Amino acid sequence: MSSTAGSMARPRGLRTAYCGVLGPGDAGRRVSVCGWVARRREHGEHLAFVDVRDHTGIIQCVVDGAADLRSEYVVRITGTVRPRPEGTVNDRLATGEVEIGAEEVEVLSPAEPPPFSLGGRSEAEEPVRLRYRYLDLRTGRMQANLRIRSRVNAAIRRSMDAQGFVEVETPLLWTPTPEGAREFAIPSRLQPGSFYVLPQSPQIAKQLLMVGGVDRYYQIARCMRDEDLRADRQFEFTQLDLEASFVSKEDVWDFVSDAVLAATREATGAEPAPVETMTWDEALDRYGTDKPDLRFAMELVDLGVAVAATGFKAFQAPCVRAIRIAGGGALGRARLDALTNRAKQLGAAGLVWLRVVAAEAGGAELESPVAKFLADEERRAIVTATAAEIGDLLVVVAGERAPTSHVLGQLRLELGQPPVFEPPYRFVWVSDFPMFEGLDDEGSPVAAHHPFTMPHPEDIDLLETDPLAVRSQSYDLVLNGWELGSGSIRVHRADIQRRVFSALGLSKEDAEARFGFLLGAFRYGAPPHGGFAFGIDRLTAILAGEASIRDVIAFPKTQSGADLMAGSPRSLPERQLAELGIRIVKPAGPGR
Ligand code: ASP
Repeated sequence: MSSTAGSMARPRGLRTAYCGVLGPGDAGRRVSVCGWVARRREHGEHLAFVDVRDHTGIIQCVVDGAADLRSEYVVRITGTVRPRPEGTVNDRLATGEVEIGAEEVEVLSPAEPPPFSLGGRSEAEEPVRLRYRYLDLRTGRMQANLRIRSRVNAAIRRSMDAQGFVEVETPLLWTPTPEGAREFAIPSRLQPGSFYVLPQSPQIAKQLLMVGGVDRYYQIARCMRDEDLRADRQFEFTQLDLEASFVSKEDVWDFVSDAVLAATREATGAEPAPVETMTWDEALDRYGTDKPDLRFAMELVDLGVAVAATGFKAFQAPCVRAIRIAGGGALGRARLDALTNRAKQLGAAGLVWLRVVAAEAGGAELESPVAKFLADEERRAIVTATAAEIGDLLVVVAGERAPTSHVLGQLRLELGQPPVFEPPYRFVWVSDFPMFEGLDDEGSPVAAHHPFTMPHPEDIDLLETDPLAVRSQSYDLVLNGWELGSGSIRVHRADIQRRVFSALGLSKEDAEARFGFLLGAFRYGAPPHGGFAFGIDRLTAILAGEASIRDVIAFPKTQSGADLMAGSPRSLPERQLAELGIRIVKPAGPGR
């Protein structure tokens, strides 16, 4: 168990020392420790070794063998710290040089045998861990994760405070907002038939705080979205939400960068690289994704110039790109076939692989079933463009720009990406996203970020004529290939906001009915403003070395949205439903 802020606190109450921090320097000290029995071993007829565990670690106590101390009993043991006898020092335990010779043993709570072992990294299956989360939380892994989370939050608060941000709490009982996610509805008892919704983010509230002159707002905010769950997604999650007035996007980036870098330092002790910046276009061209993982190379290389005049049909396409797999020349035929199939599965027409081998005349040559279709100078140009070396493998995909980049970007990840939490921590700002992505079923453009995002100043007049070409003033923060969050410079004028709503297919009446309060506020002097929000669960998971955000949340839900411990969701008594004016038409699945 790592040493933690908690272990630095002065012991109080029933204890005078923490278990995990005792060492040779404490020899001769009379102490009281409190905690759980981690392990008991009999020692001869009259004595027992009892390991006592608290959140700081474990200490061995030598107790009277008659004491009734079993696994997970809560105890207070008072005795004298002493060096362990020669030959019994345990190097694997931080306190392995000492033990407590117990003089008094008190059982504060007996315990039933736990359903799974709490020692070391828990081996139990996740459903069992979640069912008994209060036990799982006692493990070293979860103790460390919750404490990292607490330090991440503290570092973020210090950073925001130092940058002049004001912490404001916004309502949980809120009103629908068009941010793209399905919302949780809360029936109103006093106005039957009416509903609140839980905020998918404090977006509108924070913009109204800007109209209200707050200038710099932040909140470590809980947000709720009724979306399918995944390793990096829960119904409720926590984000650092912030907004500032009279700022540029670079100002917002500075605010957020300061906070995430401070959190990274605090949680890992490592000094992260400064946050990089990249446009959405560049990210797509170089990494084939808007969530680039900068920890490894294998960047996409454009072969457009190298094969500009090719007679090879497969390369006569608007976009021809390659990735270079260092040492990949050794891949056998089965792996190469699998790669080709994977590329097709991802939407490519095909995939061309080229092995880089030594040429007879010296230098490098390409070997491939299709090499004969490429002119000598084309093969040479490909080697030069990709900086390929003998022993490498090149994989090439050709087609339209977006799908070609997407396929290669995905292959790049599958071939080279380390687990997301593996250091280093490479943050990057991706900016200049398109304002809209594709069309919905009714043919209206869909907001790529959310409809409060300000279009790029040069593109505002395209809103009516060519909405899909409008760039937005939005940006994402990406860490090791995971999107941490997004933000934008906002629309602060009612006329532009109306035009964006209208481009989205929202009628004037609808816009007025749903967002009249926001449009109304804009009539009374809204400052230009912008902001951001990023997921603290995701950031903490990466910094704690976890692949799932569930492991950094005290009481998470399962993939199916259930709380296995508290038993939610569950049905409600008839009387309560009646009070809310609700009649269940058809129970949705096996409730409780
Ligand atoms: N409200 C946005 C979100 O939660 C973030 C923002 O634009 O500030 O994703």
